[in-house]
Parts: sequence; structure tokens; C-alpha cells
Amino acid sequence: MVYLVQPRLVNEPFGDAGLLLDFSFKSRAILFDLGDLVPLPAGTISKIRQVFVSHMHMDHFAGFDRMLRLLLNRTAELQVFGPPGLTDAVEGKLRSYTWNLLDETSEDFTIIAAEWNLKDELTRSRFKARNKFGREKLGVEALASRRLLMEPDFHVEAVALDHGIPCLAFAFQESLRVNVHKARLDELGLPVGPWLTEAKQLVRSHADPDAIVTIPGHRDMKLGDLLSAKVLVTGPGERICYATDLAFTEPNLSRLIALAEGSDYLFIEGGFLDEDEAIAASKHHLTASQAGSVAAAARVVRSVPMHFSPRYLGREQLLLDEFQKGLTTGLATRFSD
Ligand SMILES: [Zn+2]
Ligand SMILES: [Zn+2]
Repeated sequence: MVYLVQPRLVNEPFGDAGLLLDFSFKSRAILFDLGDLVPLPAGTISKIRQVFVSHMHMDHFAGFDRMLRLLLNRTAELQVFGPPGLTDAVEGKLRSYTWNLLDETSEDFTIIAAEWNLKDELTRSRFKARNKFGREKLGVEALASRRLLMEPDFHVEAVALDHGIPCLAFAFQESLRVNVHKARLDELGLPVGPWLTEAKQLVRSHADPDAIVTIPGHRDMKLGDLLSAKVLVTGPGERICYATDLAFTEPNLSRLIALAEGSDYLFIEGGFLDEDEAIAASKHHLTASQAGSVAAAARVVRSVPMHFSPRYLGREQLLLDEFQKGLTTGLATRFSD
């Protein structure tokens, strides 16, 4: 099966949290969190069109500068989504530099800050290089089902969790998985080529089965016939969740489990050992075993712990073992006492 995106952590587990979603056949990527981006090559950063910021603690936002530096001299638009305070934070970053060399002849680089009010509104503001990054309010959009970004192939939804401050967890949901059955293609004498990408796009956008697909060097076919001949095979879209910096409280867990339920991936913070559970709680963080319990309760297919506290450098295996223990025990007994 070929997936729409490939997820991978930006840093090793003791580094800053951050997840890259790299689109398989496009020069495009989405990033969850803007911490240390040094491990990402410049070519990868230049593919990023949307960034989702969980909260503006430094280890989740300091990478804004590296991104800005790399994108500044390009004609591109970068959308940055985040919790209340995001627009001020973006403006604060931009205001900290001197822009006298920018004018209307500069490259047309634009940042759109899209700030979620944690309910049903997204407020967009624009910062254009050609305008020396002055802040312009664009408008307020009504949101349905906490979906911050909606595209035909996928959407990204968020929930607000408590980390002493609001902190967002995200889910990337592929609309529909569409794959090409190569053996069937060969049996029917159909060529490979860009027409397949277009046909897959038609399926994902729920086009009429009678829609005509033009196939170079072959007679045209109806979309529905390609599906019934199993040249194109559909399945449920992939779901990838990312949750970092959250306290082990019942409201947080019920929201996160609802978001992550049945996901293909859950990337989850769990940076403390059980012996330091009180320290984790005081910092509004999970322990590794608590994170494993959440992954088990959400019945995710794969779970990856991240954002380990540097106090355990060299003792990574202990954290991985406790995460595994949490996965095995689950959540059921956690709140019983
Ligand atoms: Zn934090
Ligand atoms: Zn953090």
C-alpha cells in the first residue's frame, strides 16, 4: 500500500518534539511543531507548506527562525496554525528583525498565521515580506469539527489539551486510500502514467462513476469501470496523531483517546520514568508508562514515544521499557485509587 504521507520524527527522542509528514509523490510536507529543525535539510524545509504549532514553549517554536531564514528569499506562502496567542507570537518573532532591505520588489514570501480560538473560529492574519512583514488581519472563518485544514485528499484536526496552558494535539486524516493494482493494470493492457494520478484524484474527490478517464494509447474508460475491474483499489485513509506536552488528567485523556482512537500512528510524549511521576505532574507532562497506557486505551496500530527528558540521557532503554509496560497494562487501573 502506498500512503499519501510518510511520518517521521524530526529529532531523536531526547530532542525537541516535532513530526514531519512528507507527501509521497509531491514536493510538499506538513510539520507538527517548530522546535529544533537543524536535522531537517534545507530542501525538506522548503517543501513545508503548513506548520501546526502545539503551543509556544520555546522547544516547540524556536525553529520558526530557521524556517523563516530558509524561506525568506522564495516566492511561497507558509501557513502557521496554532492556539490563542499564535498571531502575536509570529508577529513578535518577525518584529525582532530589521527589514529595511525588503520592499515591493522583494520575493513574494508570505506567512499566514491561523489562530484557533479552541472552539469554532479560525482567525487568519497575513505577514508579507513585500510589506516588511506588517500584520494584516484577513478575517475569521467558522470551523467545523475542529478541522483546521481541509483539502480533498486529507484534513488536519486538533484538540486542546491542558499543559498548564492550552496545548494542541493534532490528527492528520487521509480521506480515502486509493492504490493501483499493478497486476490488474498489466492484465488489461493498460499503461502506467500520469493518467493514474488523475484517476486516483477523481476517486478521492468522489467523482461520478461515469466520469471519463483518458488513457494515452488506449481507449477511454469510465472511472467506475476502473474501480470494478480493481485497477484502482480503495481502503480507509491513514490517520496519524501527534500529542505532546500534556498533563495526566482525565479530561486530557478522554479528549486525546477520542482523537487517537484506532489511529495508524500515535506519536506521544512520555519523557519521565515512573519514579519521577511527581516531577512529570508538576511540569504537566506524561511519564513514559502513562503514555503507553494512553496508546493502549486508544487502540492505535503503532505508537512512538518521544520528547524524553534530558535527565535520562544514556538511559533511553528504561523509558522505552516503561512505555512498553504502559502499553501492556493499559489505563483501566490508573484512576481507580
Ligand atoms: Zn511545553
Ligand atoms: Zn515540550
